[in-house]
Amino acid sequence: MDLEAASTTQTNAFTGIHMKKNNILIIIDMQNDFISGVLGSSDKTTLPEKIKTFISEHDDFEMVFTKDTHTQNEKSYELSVLPIHCEKETGGWQIVNELKEYSTEGNTIEKSSFMAGSGLSNKIREINSEAELWMCGVCTDICVISNAFMLRREFPKAKINILSELCMGATAKAHDAALEVMRSSLFNIV
Ligand SMILES: [Zn+2]
Repeated sequence: MDLEAASTTQTNAFTGIHMKKNNILIIIDMQNDFISGVLGSSDKTTLPEKIKTFISEHDDFEMVFTKDTHTQNEKSYELSVLPIHCEKETGGWQIVNELKEYSTEGNTIEKSSFMAGSGLSNKIREINSEAELWMCGVCTDICVISNAFMLRREFPKAKINILSELCMGATAKAHDAALEVMRSSLFNIV
C-alpha cells in the first residue's frame, strides 16, 4: 500500500464517527515509554498523530487522560515481570508531545496499575455521569480492555465506544483478540 492510499484509508476510517456534545474521550496511557520508550515499538509511532487528528476534527467533548505511574522501588507483580516504565517525573512518564497540550492536572488521572480505579470513575462522574464514553490509547489488550470493563462496572448504562483505529496492542494479534472480546461483550467497536 502506498502512503497516499494508507492516509486515505485512515481518514475514511473515521467517516461517520461523531462524538456528541458532552461525550467523554478517555485516552489511555499515551506516554512516551509506551510509544517510543522502554515498552514502545516502531509501529506505534504514528498513533499520537492519529489521535491528535481525531481530537482536532471534533469539538464540544471532554477529555480524560490516564497516566501509568510507577516508582523505582515499588513492590508489585507488574514490575516483577515488566521493566521499570513510566517512572514518575521522568521523560518516559510524560504524555507524548503530540497530545500533551490537551492533558492538564485537572483531566489527567495517575494510576499505579492497569486500571485507573476510582480516580477515573470519579472524574467521569464529576463531568457527567450519564455521558457516552469513547476510548483510545494503549495497549488494547492490557490497559484499554481493563479500563473498559472497569467503566462497564462503574457505568453499567453507558454506551462505551472503542476507537479501534486509535488503539494499539502489545502485538497486532493481541489487539485483534482484545477487540474481539470487547465486541462480544457489547462494547461498541468503531
Ligand atoms: Zn505500568
